Amino acid sequence: MRGMNLWLTNARLFDGTGGPVRAGAGILIEDGVITRMGRAADAVPPGADVIDVAGRTVMPGMIDAHAHVFVKPPRPEEGAEPLWPETSAHFLGARLRETLRMGFTTLRDVGSYGDAVVAARQAMRYGAFRGPRLLTCGRIVSATAPGGRFFDGMYREADGPDEVRKAVREQLRRGADFVKVMTTGARSVELEDPLPAQLTEAEVAAVVDEAHRLGYRVAAHAEGLAGTELAVRLGADTIEHGMYLHQRPELLDLMAAAGQVLVPTLSCYYGVAEEPGWTPRLADLARRNLDEACRTLEAARTAGVPIALGHDWQPFSDAATEIVRMVRHGMSPAETLVAATATAARALGLDDRLGTVEPGKLADLVVVDGDPLADPGVLRDRARIWLVLQLGEPVSGQTMEANARTAAVSRSADQISALSNGGSPRSGITRTPG
Ligand SMILES: [Zn+2]
Repeated sequence: MRGMNLWLTNARLFDGTGGPVRAGAGILIEDGVITRMGRAADAVPPGADVIDVAGRTVMPGMIDAHAHVFVKPPRPEEGAEPLWPETSAHFLGARLRETLRMGFTTLRDVGSYGDAVVAARQAMRYGAFRGPRLLTCGRIVSATAPGGRFFDGMYREADGPDEVRKAVREQLRRGADFVKVMTTGARSVELEDPLPAQLTEAEVAAVVDEAHRLGYRVAAHAEGLAGTELAVRLGADTIEHGMYLHQRPELLDLMAAAGQVLVPTLSCYYGVAEEPGWTPRLADLARRNLDEACRTLEAARTAGVPIALGHDWQPFSDAATEIVRMVRHGMSPAETLVAATATAARALGLDDRLGTVEPGKLADLVVVDGDPLADPGVLRDRARIWLVLQLGEPVSGQTMEANARTAAVSRSADQISALSNGGSPRSGITRTPG
């Protein structure tokens, strides 16, 4: 919608700042950017198309700060034709489309297999399909460790400050937007232990120094407290998991003072604890770690640490599950939606352009048919994700699908507009004279 102006009106606005919801809001979007906040009663700005959302909730497009952007391709039955190597890329594209459909307009990929994610991003940039804005770390920088064998193709194992520095540079060469580092082992790998730190202090320092020197942010996988302490002290920008931090309140104070963001990832503990197929030892550990993570969530809120949404589970299109779980474990719905918007944008270093509905921000928005502040579960309901806008352009959502169905069964444009007053972006858009 470049060069096109849009007046989104009659909105119940949650702007992502955590301020009160405003009824009867109007939002002017020009060339994909929010330029003015107004009232539904205001005159339609000259030349603007109008979308009347009829009192539905408008909020910033959601951001998942901890996604693993891969899909498990289908497993053919015995005797069925084997999969072609190229087939799984189509499943990844479909999952990305579905993620956008669910109101997530930005994902931070913190580790996936091979180069599928940069290829998918490239395909989107050339217009092959629509999905969320994608930031990726490329490969995760890790010590030589068992995880490298479990997650073959996801890690760049490197040892010693010089090689670690080279590993950082390799990711930027690949097109990474930030650097992800394993400061500790992972709880999803039986051969790994969260203690001691997996990298030495000199290695973690080299990762952070090289990334920052070149202008990139650092996300640190941090489970055990020794590695978590290194990540915090040496200046990682986001602390992923960090579930034992409640045991070290002074580290939470350091994070709050430095503005380091915690990404608590409750869903990964739920996943390992509840889904079949995990070893009993890991499932048991996940149950205990969920308890630790919930204590840390509470302690981090009290300490004033910024908290961002990170789903960390599959399918990555279902990231709103993490919202529901954060609320279940003590955050208010408003706090959680801020974590999924403004603070997630901050985690990505994109808070100057994304995460709130304010003049100057990019118009990535979601219109929800319901009240996510009263019931965050509506965000998991496909039918309630009414409309998704990317850079001010309606690109996905229930009403666009409903409109397509209406168009398919009706030959009459008049019938379409009569049916869909307040229902479809297409027929709901009216161009004003002038
Ligand atoms: Zn993860």
